[in-house]
Amino acid sequence: MRFHRFEGEGKVKLGDIPEDPPDGVSKREAKDRFDELDKEIFELQDWMWGAGTHSTLLILQGRDAAGKDGAVKHMSGALNPRGVVVTSFGVPTEEEREHDFLWRVHRQVPRAGRIAVFNRSHYEDVLVARVRELVPKAVWKERYGLINAFERTLAAANCIILKFFLHITKDEQEERLLARERSPADAWKLSIDDWKDRDRWDEYTEAYEDAMGRCSSPDAPWIVVPANAKWYRDLVVAEVLAHALRPHKAAWRKTLDERGKVRRQDLREWRAARRAASK
Ligand code: AMP
Ligand code: MG
Repeated sequence: MRFHRFEGEGKVKLGDIPEDPPDGVSKREAKDRFDELDKEIFELQDWMWGAGTHSTLLILQGRDAAGKDGAVKHMSGALNPRGVVVTSFGVPTEEEREHDFLWRVHRQVPRAGRIAVFNRSHYEDVLVARVRELVPKAVWKERYGLINAFERTLAAANCIILKFFLHITKDEQEERLLARERSPADAWKLSIDDWKDRDRWDEYTEAYEDAMGRCSSPDAPWIVVPANAKWYRDLVVAEVLAHALRPHKAAWRKTLDERGKVRRQDLREWRAARRAASK
């Protein structure tokens, strides 16, 4: 596996981080490994659901055509729909704009036992809001600290947080956007804004680097996913998710086993009482 994980404040240089899969990893092997992880994650999710002590929040960020939707699709395919909620954050509505920037986000965080997947997130408020100058600098600058406090609040409530940046090259983005334009089936996904944002590639790079550099902690790390190849992107997301859930496995299992014992005992007592009453 090759990806970068940031869990403390510091300088992030996206230019130094590869967008392509490492040499020697084949698509075939990646798919086999993904299938294994798929099964493991399904079980982990089931136990997390049952134990009800933790929740998980997966945040997907990336430029247009970076593959956020594809990653959501593949990730949620591995999960039991019963316990997953996917939310896409677009341009804020009037009601949302009339609240603080975290209001709409906080309402969608997962309750215990659930996994929430965010396609875009509160990070847009230090990305697009900064680059397109939707708010004054003083406003977006203050948001890093507010985001950190918010994520600490979630982590303190046993929310397992993972933030993924899907890292693609400028050439790969161009190819994908042009392919969409050529394809009658995919053209509906296009937007002039994609190209306007592309013109500000370097400004977005800087905004992403600052967001990752200022808002990373062991409880809410950023993972830079090489995303030029979709199969590798999906593998990294699955591997990181399984790795984050695995340490809790024994405790979740213990909670479930103890509950199972209590339930069996309850049944035994209830049957004994019924027998006694029928005599
Ligand atoms: P898409 O992901 O293609 O559906 O597009 C959603 C659009 O909403 C993107 O262009 C984002 O930049 C924009 N967006 C998401 N969150 C915000 C926000 N907080 N402020 C302004 N624009 C946003
Ligand atoms: Mg866009």
